Amino acid sequence: MSHEPSSHPEQLSPETIAVAAGRPAREHDAPVNPPIVLSSTYVGTGEVVDGDRAYGRYSNPTWDPLEDTLSQLEGATLPGLVFASGLAAVSAALSLIPVGGVLVMPRHSYQGALVMAQEQSAKGLFTLRCVDIANTDEVIAALTGSGEKAADMLWLESPTNPMLEVADLRVLCRSAQAVGAVVVTDNTFCTPLVQKPLELGSDVVLHSVTKYLAGHSDVILGALITSNPDLRRALHHHRSVHGAIAGPFEAWLALRGLRTLALRVERAGENAVELAQRLNVHDGVDRVLFPGLESDPGHERAKAQMTGFGAIICIEVAGGQEAADALVNAVRLWTPATSLGGVESLIERRRRHANEPDTVPANLLRLSVGVENVEDLWNDLSQALSTATALR
Ligand SMILES: *Cc1c(COP(=O)(O)O)cnc(C)c1O
Repeated sequence: MSHEPSSHPEQLSPETIAVAAGRPAREHDAPVNPPIVLSSTYVGTGEVVDGDRAYGRYSNPTWDPLEDTLSQLEGATLPGLVFASGLAAVSAALSLIPVGGVLVMPRHSYQGALVMAQEQSAKGLFTLRCVDIANTDEVIAALTGSGEKAADMLWLESPTNPMLEVADLRVLCRSAQAVGAVVVTDNTFCTPLVQKPLELGSDVVLHSVTKYLAGHSDVILGALITSNPDLRRALHHHRSVHGAIAGPFEAWLALRGLRTLALRVERAGENAVELAQRLNVHDGVDRVLFPGLESDPGHERAKAQMTGFGAIICIEVAGGQEAADALVNAVRLWTPATSLGGVESLIERRRRHANEPDTVPANLLRLSVGVENVEDLWNDLSQALSTATALR
């Protein structure tokens, strides 16, 4: 290990950790922010031992403060590992499955993770069992194998993207542990400010740092965080030999963005609750998917394991795909674009992607609620809804 978390996470709240962690040592005239270190190699003589930087594919001083901060935020005892993208982190995590093993995965996992798992399983690397992650009995049956081989890995994502189904994380982690399966939880939608998978029993937490953590739609980066030394060693080895490493500038930008995480998550979350309630009673909307609504099937579970509800809302627009497209074309403040988790509000019809499963309705729009003034966001949405409704 080249570096250790720099302060005591148990003494600070997450909002403070996001601001205070990963700072350079307090020496006279030291910079307040870590510098960007641009070097592909490090001076060294003699034998290279564990923890030496040696070469820029193994380690970079600009990753360290970000990896420490992510680790503290997730409540881990070992530094995190940053990757070139969220999907590079997914790739490393899937490599933990032994050849011939079994992966249990939500059928509404992040589409890229699902495609990767399907392709690897089609090559015969492992068996993939896709489940409705909100249906605890179905997931447990897939874990034990019901006569077939038990699972080697449970993939969790909660709420799912884009159906916003909520998994019972505590129960599923315990069930996975009982069959000896490693649990990986994609915590991108929640951030560690809203949900702490390691505390709920997950072995590894995955982030697309691209989204809320970096928060400004200007970086692509991923991360894995674990307190298990064997798993961390395997993941670090995978990163070193497969080469999907973070650029120092991206790592620096992500930490820069992370400093305001608490403010952004809080504002976006408040905006989302308000907009979901208004959309829920709008006659241009057939259905609102958002665990923050009391009527949502995932509401009670979300309250039991999350400290908020995130800031992603999905709506099924009345009038079908055509009305949904009309709405996206009519917004002026919201940006029609894929991705999520930035300060600016984005809106997208998910089925415009050919890979999106057909269990996702064609008229479903995913709204990534940003930090703008909520009335401005609502005014724009409601004028666009009027345009869409006029089509019916
Ligand atoms: C975007 C995303 C990913 C993939 O991350 P990239 O940084 O785009 O590679 C994985 N999981 C979730 C939930 C995501 O939203």
